Amino acid sequence: MSAFLPFTRPSIDEASIAAVADVFRSGQIASGPKVQAFEAALAAYIGSGRHLRVMTSATAGLEMALEVAGVGEGDEVIVPAMSFAASANVIARVGAKPVFVDIDLYTRNLNMDLVRPAITSRTRAIMPVHFAGLPVDMDALYDIASQHGLRVVEDAAHAIGSRYQGKLIGSFGDLVVFSFHPNKNMTSIEGGAIAAADPREAQLFEQYRFHGIQRNPEGEIDVMFPGAKSNLTDVAAQVGLDQLRRLDGFNARRLELAGRYFEALEGFSSVVLPARGDAGHSWHMFQVLIDFPKQGMTRPEFQKRLAERGIGIGVHYPSIPSLRYYRDQGYDPQATPVAARVGRETVTLPLFPAMTDDDVLRVYRELRDLLH
Ligand SMILES: *Cc1c(COP(=O)(O)O)cnc(C)c1O
Repeated sequence: MSAFLPFTRPSIDEASIAAVADVFRSGQIASGPKVQAFEAALAAYIGSGRHLRVMTSATAGLEMALEVAGVGEGDEVIVPAMSFAASANVIARVGAKPVFVDIDLYTRNLNMDLVRPAITSRTRAIMPVHFAGLPVDMDALYDIASQHGLRVVEDAAHAIGSRYQGKLIGSFGDLVVFSFHPNKNMTSIEGGAIAAADPREAQLFEQYRFHGIQRNPEGEIDVMFPGAKSNLTDVAAQVGLDQLRRLDGFNARRLELAGRYFEALEGFSSVVLPARGDAGHSWHMFQVLIDFPKQGMTRPEFQKRLAERGIGIGVHYPSIPSLRYYRDQGYDPQATPVAARVGRETVTLPLFPAMTDDDVLRVYRELRDLLH
């Protein structure tokens, strides 16, 4: 039997491993020259004069972005009901209230028609998620935000290298947060970055990620507020530097593999395919919906049977309002029925740059065998 095919795996080459060894030998392993080089490389990649700052995770970045945007106690933030829990958790952590808006069944992005009706006098910000690497309708989003005077904190954890009408996500818009977790399109082991238009906000992120410290011109430190401790290490930044160099190649391969899935699965009525998007889709994940009661098995049973056949799948994600903490807060998962359905039916199929076209066919054959 062929080797186990996981749903994702990072591509780390020997040159990157050697470069990391050199960082260790340099003696400079926490935040230093590699962090600066990584930020400069990210700024060059994103372009448009954006200011990039890196931190230990997208979760840390989203939380500080909300704080810098002035979101706090008593405020509401609009967020899709279908995302990783971190999108809503950070809103709760700054003392604000997540307002869940439903998604489109195929794009799995915010349903923009439902955003405006969710705005109240307490709404301070919108947090869209470019789900699986497919950009949200940015024109509609920023029209709504500017009409209502709202900040936008884009959860672009899935969307490094994604393009909207040819423009890179992060090269325009308000505050944009990327993730470099190993499952994402590029990695720095753990890590994240914020793209900001305003250099003063970029400076605030430097303070938020490191104790609230500011240095005076003589180099002495002062503390401006009780900041966090979320600075990236040089070891991680070196990994990120190598990955960024390979990112466009990774994403081109993801796009090809997604195309193979569409070819194989078109007309296979046991699964609901995702929206195809255009060449700006970075295909962080390829997800199909399966009606498990109709198939006579549960999702965990399906997962187990596929694993026995050497194929790993993921579940991204249960809808956020269906999670225990949010139900306890009084949210009704059925108030966002499309997200609830996607949460029950979604399956993430294997997709990562080192996969072969034959791997896609192998997944298809096993799906056809197991489903009717
Ligand atoms: C992975 C992810 C995050 C969190 O990223 P970390 O870097 O692991 O903190 C946030 N939002 C979404 C949509 C994600 O998929």
